[in-house]
Amino acid sequence: MKFNTKTIHAGQMPDKATGAVVIPIYQTSTYKMDEINVHKGYDYSRSGNPTRNSLEECLASLENGRFALAFSSGLAAEHAVLSTLKPGDHIIAAEDMYGGTYRLFEEVFKPYGIQFSYVGGNTIDFEKAIKQATKIFWIESPTNPLLRIIDIAKVSAIAHKNNIKVVVDNTFASPYFQQPLLLGADLVIHSTTKYIGGHSDLIGGALIVNDEEWYTRLKFLQNAIGAVPGAFDCWLTLRGIKTLSVRMKKHEENALQIAYFLESHPKINKVYYPGLPSDPFHNLAKQQMTGFSGMISFKLDKGDQKAANSFFKKLKIISLAESLGGVESLICYPSAMTHASIPEAQRNAIGVTKDLIRLSVGIEDAEDLIEDLSNAINY
Ligand SMILES: *Cc1c(COP(=O)(O)O)cnc(C)c1O
Repeated sequence: MKFNTKTIHAGQMPDKATGAVVIPIYQTSTYKMDEINVHKGYDYSRSGNPTRNSLEECLASLENGRFALAFSSGLAAEHAVLSTLKPGDHIIAAEDMYGGTYRLFEEVFKPYGIQFSYVGGNTIDFEKAIKQATKIFWIESPTNPLLRIIDIAKVSAIAHKNNIKVVVDNTFASPYFQQPLLLGADLVIHSTTKYIGGHSDLIGGALIVNDEEWYTRLKFLQNAIGAVPGAFDCWLTLRGIKTLSVRMKKHEENALQIAYFLESHPKINKVYYPGLPSDPFHNLAKQQMTGFSGMISFKLDKGDQKAANSFFKKLKIISLAESLGGVESLICYPSAMTHASIPEAQRNAIGVTKDLIRLSVGIEDAEDLIEDLSNAINY
């Protein structure tokens, strides 16, 4: 099956019991056994649920992976990956990353003895930071919020030479535009809250992995830790996935128009969007992605929270809100919102400064979004 067909059919064959074309919401916590531990494949919904299984099968298929596991949030999925490590193990992460991931590293797993190094996005930066204890390279591409592109194939080659695994957070690209496992990555993470769910109506996460041993351990942890999504959220996620292709095309089409508008605007100092031919990551993005997705960051010429606030207040269609990847356009102020948990000095060093704005371009009409931005830029 090709991608669009998979979004509709992978893991979503008509229900065997009733013929229902759409997978039912199996809203049950438990399942009747015929005798002790003899059952139809399900014994308790933390361990397994048919609606969740359907979602997992679909996600594995979309990422061209063997196995997928669904979680109650993107961070819960990350928590499971980190829980496969032992005290003393070392992770090298690209420094431009979601603030919540940084917080999970520093404030939850560091006290348990996991070590973290943060590096730039070049292959050489990863290579130089390798220690005896390094187990994982952890990257986002495109990165949040600066939309940098990391060469997944090259970074994976270095990792594998050193017996290190590569984890790619593919939330910003979605499997529609990028499939990291095909580029050499070992595990893909999604916050399905974002493009995969696509309608800003649920919180969810997922892991997709090929290695059976790692999968078995992660599946054990999914059940043993217990951060599983409910059947209704799995069903909503599947419903979102059915339109992933058409949504992603429109997100990208709108984002490109808006990026050109912002780039030519005298009051905008800088635009970060890998789809712009002027973007330093344009060629690398073209090489490993089939499109540039719908996330744009930019810098206002007056760079403080007050200026940003008056800009946000003038917006009529675009909402100031956390999150991204929904059908509606959302805008945010990373330094005090999504990335507030990264210390200020470190934020500044990375480039997440007080003039930076992040825009998740929705699937409205681009003309309306440009008019909204245009009116608000005269803050
Ligand atoms: C939102 C996000 C996460 C965390 O996912 P939740 O579903 O909010 O827990 C992780 N990585 C990236 C890139 C994100 O944007």
